[in-house]
Amino acid sequence: MNGLTDTHIHLTDTPYVDRVSETLEKTVANGVSGIIVPGYSIDSWKTLVDLKKRNPQISTAIGLHPGYITFENVSDYNIQQYYSEMNPIAIGEIGLDNRKGYPSSIIQEKLFGQQLDLACAWQKPLILHCVGEHSSCISLLKQYSKRKPLQGVLHRANCSIQIAEQYIKLGFHLGFGPDLFNSRRKKLHALAQWAPNDNILLETDAPYCKNQDGDIYHPWILPELANYLASLKGISASTMCNIVKQNTYNLFGI
Ligand SMILES: [Zn+2]
Repeated sequence: MNGLTDTHIHLTDTPYVDRVSETLEKTVANGVSGIIVPGYSIDSWKTLVDLKKRNPQISTAIGLHPGYITFENVSDYNIQQYYSEMNPIAIGEIGLDNRKGYPSSIIQEKLFGQQLDLACAWQKPLILHCVGEHSSCISLLKQYSKRKPLQGVLHRANCSIQIAEQYIKLGFHLGFGPDLFNSRRKKLHALAQWAPNDNILLETDAPYCKNQDGDIYHPWILPELANYLASLKGISASTMCNIVKQNTYNLFGI
């Protein structure tokens, strides 16, 4: 437990994939020693296996994002082989997304359920992606948690306090990212202020979280995010850092 951990960053994607070493150097120099890179498609898994070989200090997660479903069964993706090669610390990012152009909810729920089975079998925490489908997501998680207790993080949490309470009850953390810097996101600020200290994690979701001018938030801004969240919650920056380091360790073991 040294520095902070960016619990969600896509180093497999442009602009990082061609400059991983310099990205990691700059990030570590800014006090971020933990890096969790979630896989989301077969192509990203391939890149991630290679990335992990060259940069063993990064942590990986394996999962099929609802937007990247091509086959109807997770077994068709050769996930077991990638799992062995990648040695991930979590399953993700997986979940449900009701945006236009995504596969039907039937197919999404099928693949999500199959990956929940794997998370149970492999005993790994989850990195959840959920957009507009919280009630279906929560009811599936409830079903599975009857068999085996689940834990994980709702990545880029953006829901009501009532919904967040249900995720927390199920053993989930809330991942907060640079969306918090947007002063107009009042509901998100209220959620962050309410969120129990034991259930918060930090992430940048780089390069997919942008400011109002369209600029990317890079992983090395994580300490700034910790400070900002600390000020929102009325605690010191060092207390916030200790809280999220402990939570990251409790969930992911890093
Ligand atoms: Zn992501």
